[in-house]
Amino acid sequence: MPDLLARLSDRPLVADGATGTELQKRLGNPGECYEALNQTHPDVVRDLAAAYAAAGSDIITTNSFGGSRLKLARVGLGSQARALSITAARLAREGAGSDVLIAGSMGSTGRLIEPLGDLSEEEAVECFSEQAAALAEGGADLILVETMMSLEEALAAVRGARQAADIPVACTFAFVMSHRTMFGVGVEDAVRSLEQAGAAAVGFNCGELTLESALTLVEEFAAVASVPVIAQPNAGLPELVAGETVFRETPESMGEYARRFVAAGAAIVGGCCGSTPEHIRSMVKALRP
Ligand SMILES: [Zn+2]
Repeated sequence: MPDLLARLSDRPLVADGATGTELQKRLGNPGECYEALNQTHPDVVRDLAAAYAAAGSDIITTNSFGGSRLKLARVGLGSQARALSITAARLAREGAGSDVLIAGSMGSTGRLIEPLGDLSEEEAVECFSEQAAALAEGGADLILVETMMSLEEALAAVRGARQAADIPVACTFAFVMSHRTMFGVGVEDAVRSLEQAGAAAVGFNCGELTLESALTLVEEFAAVASVPVIAQPNAGLPELVAGETVFRETPESMGEYARRFVAAGAAIVGGCCGSTPEHIRSMVKALRP
């Protein structure tokens, strides 16, 4: 089984691009629950992993972002949580092959932890622990807690994952142009708390950032983090055009910024919403000409 930290000692790694926007492109309207596609459209999920592996991704993310039991309960699929995450990891592996790292994606439960909401910290940890165990059982090489906005939830996810699985746990937050999350979490707080909780890598994904702003965010992370820094921004600042969200950055510009992110201290680069296998191919080419 390939090991994340061993690989990082050789060279910076390129993760994959968007899952959600790519599934939308392939399926039209995939419905409200993307994780259900692991059962209804396994070929599409597998092919997306294969497309990113062919583009040169070292790390492929599973289609399990909204796959926690609490999140799935909102669409009546709570009882399927374990099965859907196991399948997500298997499909990623089948599509991507044995030579890449499979990152088990875990996103927000959609519930707020006490005292802001009614979810106890213990319940949150248990929920994430269950999902991480399923992802590891399906063959994930690491857990990627991503698009986090609340520090409490991110910490619950990292703790839960570390309890459940003996694989590295990485965590990324979604930042906006002020370089805070929507919940007001700043870089230094995020890094310090996550490192204390045992995160193997920290950084940012998704969010509302220009690539230039993402570059200064990499610098801020690199200045305080002692673990590897992850940069997986969207393909530019989301823009609303005729009711649809569009991302304008081209594969060429993402490639150029991949080089700059690494020069600024990022160890793992990739994309989020709006980025495609072509964007990833360009990033790989920029880093390994
Ligand atoms: Zn995104």
